[in-house]
Amino acid sequence: MPSQPNMRTSGSLRVAVVGAGIVGLSTALEIRARGAEVAVYDSGVELGAGATMRAAGMLGAAFDWALEADQRAMAALARHAGMLWPDFAARIERLAGAGLEFSKEGALVVARSEEEASWLGTLAAACQARNLPVQRLSADEVRRADPALSGNLVGGLMLPEDRQVDAQIALQRLGAALSRSGVGLRLGRKVERIVGGQVFLMPDGEKFDRVVLATGAGALPAFVGPRGAPLEHGLVATVPVKGQILALAPVDGGPRHVTHTRDVYIAPKSRWVLIGATSERGRADTTVDPDKIAALRARASEIAPSLANAPEVTAWAGIRPGTPDDAPMIGQTAIPGVFAALGHYRNGVLFAPATAELVADQVIDGKVSPLAAAFDPLRFDKLSEAPHSPAQEN
Ligand SMILES: Cc1cc2nc3c(=O)[nH]c(=O)nc-3n(C[C@H](O)[C@H](O)[C@H](O)COP(=O)(O)OP(=O)(O)OC[C@H]3O[C@@H](n4cnc5c(N)ncnc54)[C@H](O)[C@@H]3O)c2cc1C
Repeated sequence: MPSQPNMRTSGSLRVAVVGAGIVGLSTALEIRARGAEVAVYDSGVELGAGATMRAAGMLGAAFDWALEADQRAMAALARHAGMLWPDFAARIERLAGAGLEFSKEGALVVARSEEEASWLGTLAAACQARNLPVQRLSADEVRRADPALSGNLVGGLMLPEDRQVDAQIALQRLGAALSRSGVGLRLGRKVERIVGGQVFLMPDGEKFDRVVLATGAGALPAFVGPRGAPLEHGLVATVPVKGQILALAPVDGGPRHVTHTRDVYIAPKSRWVLIGATSERGRADTTVDPDKIAALRARASEIAPSLANAPEVTAWAGIRPGTPDDAPMIGQTAIPGVFAALGHYRNGVLFAPATAELVADQVIDGKVSPLAAAFDPLRFDKLSEAPHSPAQEN
């Protein structure tokens, strides 16, 4: 791992964050809270150019990771992030002066057949093995927990710590929280080239001691030395994973909880009900396929019949920033003073407060925790495991 450049006192440290998605903004907030001066650059003229604005906002530490026996570090990161979220949401709300629709309701997972019920048993056992709270529900208990769900379901689970937030609102609130904390938001500024040396020179002429790359699925800036020679950051490019999602108008008596099956989820917000999502690895376009959207609605209506006739508000596609092993890249790159907060794939909303903490530990304190070490951004030349392939995507 490359060494840190000489550390100045954090009060005078100047940090540039490239990328104003939920990962970049959360990291900027944490670094600012630890006393540094921070500016965030984004190519979008307003917040929301990237995946965060297209996310379902589920914070599914148990549903997404309990079953991944070979992904201990990811499960630990997910659990840690899930535990940080209540305080993180409260802190943003306090700073922004408005809430982000963080809901503590818990998520349901339901079975449509005996085969799926057996899979639920496996998921429940995996949660218990990881000390993640889980309650088994009979078919009647599922209906009592959420009367909008179909009477044909054969059983379910309640995951009380799998919460949700409105990701789009959270991003806006984070932006407001940063402005009120004195962080400069430099929107409409694509960063294509950074000159490294004793300090980092941004295209607008501003100088920083540290740079955090949080560009999601976007292209990384090139780094050059003071005489124009390329500087190698050692990062691999992120892998685009397209996801399409449908937003329906809320209906009377509609579902209240995040509800998963193995192949669809329903995430009800106050302004719409999100149904997701496709997973199209290697695709970076944002066209919406009406057949795929219709298939999502059909699956969701099977578990919540009132959604069959709910008016469509909109549908969209976003690009998840994957990596070769689908774990994020968190930590210092091969250029001392340049840090990655990249590759958050299908869990960037969930992971954001944990990534912010791990990156700030390194940027401000030069401390790499054992959890962060598992996400070393320079690990890929050492990769030998098979790529990870989840059953259902956020
Ligand atoms: C359909 C769908 C559903 C999802 N649902 C969930 C969910 O329920 N829960 C969950 O946790 N996650 C979910 N995700 C994943 C989540 O959206 C991402 O992991 C997360 O948003 C990544 O955040 P980010 O800040 O890294 O990237 P982004 O939000 O993409 O932000 C990156 C920013 O960097 C900017 N940028 C890029 N390059 C440059 C440059 N060179 N110069 C300046 N700016 C630049 C972009 O304009 C963009 O604003 C979902 C994703 C999709 C597509």
